[in-house]
Amino acid sequence: MAKVILVLSDALRYDVAKANMGFLGHLVETKQASLYKIIGELPSMSRPMYETIHTGLSSSQHGIVSNSITRLSTKPNIFQAVKDAGKVTAAAAYSWVSELYNHAPYDPIEDKEVDDKALSIQHGRFYTEDEYPDSELFFTAAHLIRKFSPDYLLLHPMGMDYHGETFGADTKEYRSHAIYQDKKLAPLIMEWREREYTIFVTGDHGINADGDHGGTTSDQRDVPLFIIQPNFKGRGDAEEVVSHLQIAPSILNLLEVPIPKTMKYQPLLLD
Ligand SMILES: [Zn+2]
Repeated sequence: MAKVILVLSDALRYDVAKANMGFLGHLVETKQASLYKIIGELPSMSRPMYETIHTGLSSSQHGIVSNSITRLSTKPNIFQAVKDAGKVTAAAAYSWVSELYNHAPYDPIEDKEVDDKALSIQHGRFYTEDEYPDSELFFTAAHLIRKFSPDYLLLHPMGMDYHGETFGADTKEYRSHAIYQDKKLAPLIMEWREREYTIFVTGDHGINADGDHGGTTSDQRDVPLFIIQPNFKGRGDAEEVVSHLQIAPSILNLLEVPIPKTMKYQPLLLD
């Protein structure tokens, strides 16, 4: 039975990921992983895309059309579907994810660490500062994996977004952070693959040279989708464009959880 980790690297641009994430590049080059390009859904904003990725719906369909909408998701989503199937969910993520799937508005003390089978995110560890160190978050996720063996875990670091918004995307700081994330994730990806996880690595949106996102240009919307499977099989650089809307049904399909009727896109076919 498959288990899935979704690494949702906030503001990880397609071109920067491809050029600077060398361990992931190695897995692609040796066909131990597949790389697709996602022309991201719009608007290229965080909260709308967290919901799009988890529901397989566009922003106008799920209603989270702006970062300012602070409420629980009202649509079938990955966390709820996996929990309802009797499986285990977890997340190490920004507080907005807790607001979408566990409790809104976010209480920074009560909601920060939860272990509760009744919640959509049963084992949640959340943060509120954009500069919260990615490496600490990666260790938190790695700990959740070892301790609870969740069927689905979301790992959501903010470092690319923080560096891109602070310095602009056409900078050493933004590009170097992609190298940093790749370097820190490499040994964890090896461990998680050993533990039979399928690992998705993608972004919610890109970012432009001004350090902005929200618009329609390719730098603001194009993100990678790397897929690493425990059977070591991949297509290399598939040179294929796929959709953010395929992520949710693809993950549920792997987990053998019924795909809600609201998720209209076909799951990606993996080898
Ligand atoms: Zn974002």
